Amino acid sequence: MLCAVIIACGGDLTNNQPSPDQSQSSEQKQSSEQKQSSEQKQSSDKRQSISDRNQKQDGGPYQWGGSALDKLISIDFNAPSKEFKQQLITHKGFPEEHRQFFNEVHASINQVVGSYPNYFYIVYDKERSNEENEPIIQKLKDLNFKGGRLRTVADVHEERNCLTGSNTGQSRTASTNPISICLEDLKELTWYGHQYGDSSLEELQNEPWKNLTRLALHYAHEYFHHYQRAHSLDRGLDYQGDRDNPRTTVYAPPWWTEGAAVAFQNAWLRQHWQDISFFDGQTWEDGLGNISIASVTNPWAYKEIRQAIMGGPSEGRGRDCTPDFTMGPWTERYDTERAPDADKCPAFMMAAPYLATLTSWQTVWIDIPRDFYDLELGFWGAIEKYTGMDTQTFYDNFNAFLRAGDPEDEPPAGWQPQPGPFADYADFFSIASRSN
Ligand SMILES: [Zn+2]
Repeated sequence: MLCAVIIACGGDLTNNQPSPDQSQSSEQKQSSEQKQSSEQKQSSDKRQSISDRNQKQDGGPYQWGGSALDKLISIDFNAPSKEFKQQLITHKGFPEEHRQFFNEVHASINQVVGSYPNYFYIVYDKERSNEENEPIIQKLKDLNFKGGRLRTVADVHEERNCLTGSNTGQSRTASTNPISICLEDLKELTWYGHQYGDSSLEELQNEPWKNLTRLALHYAHEYFHHYQRAHSLDRGLDYQGDRDNPRTTVYAPPWWTEGAAVAFQNAWLRQHWQDISFFDGQTWEDGLGNISIASVTNPWAYKEIRQAIMGGPSEGRGRDCTPDFTMGPWTERYDTERAPDADKCPAFMMAAPYLATLTSWQTVWIDIPRDFYDLELGFWGAIEKYTGMDTQTFYDNFNAFLRAGDPEDEPPAGWQPQPGPFADYADFFSIASRSN
């Protein structure tokens, strides 16, 4: 999983590949002094953003709604559908079985999350000629990706990213048309399980279902980000959406964006793997259930991380954790959370299942993105609505939770999404879109 400017990925508890976004690496070099001062400024920034909202001026804070919102509503941008709307754009000679696999996986996801427009999965093959890659080069130009300047497959390879985005109009105006793009080399799909798992190429050749299991999880993860973004509408999902005025976005933090997506991908696969014909003949217990690219809800990770934070041995998932860990405003942005000097302990990701124990997975996955557009404080307004906690109280309570009880304790009830159909506990089609 690569990261993106608009919607980011990776940073997951068991993601074997740190995969920092190449386009963000220079921006991630933030000193500890800068980080500290930004922390001190956060609360006053938030108060300021409320008073600024109604003082829109050129170059000033964005006042959401209006013509940009009307445009997005007119194209059903946040309206879930069961039609197949994902677009797979490929080079000439793309393997037909990969297309079928892509279609089966996304058809299954659509039945759970719903299908949303403007999602483009674009696959090139850097081993092939520009002529053979012409369909994807043309499509990237049509989508105004990188200003439509990519001319060769080498240019495309330089800009590979998943999930990233583009806009064929002008963002936050009546012409806006935001698009999510996953741009990957065929080799990444063919050997996904080698790059992002621990399987050798030989193992994957002999047991291709292992690669496909990881690829299915990847597809579900990235598509979930598109769903999250769809409900942020013209505000934008996170800090990356408007770095000059980040509080005008819904300001979703990485621990929720990634934690909710990782928990979803695993719950979806467990419940729906039999939708995929490529998995015929496999089992869950001795097969797919043992394959993972990331997790935020594993009980053993919960124990290892808490053990290290409570002063016990730092091992396994807790290997980068110490009693010094505290969650705080530095976890609200990808660039501060992944800064070279940031605390490497992944405990902050557990705030997503922690939130589920306070509320429910329905709230984590659906109620929050349903509400965050309308709330003055966006994501954090939704947290306060469902937990009664303001941002600092949420941090304080989570930091206390990480240290409460015994390190050997099992996670609390509701930590993991429950087995069984999503409709029984998390109904994605209950999300009210403005076009309904
Ligand atoms: Zn992600």
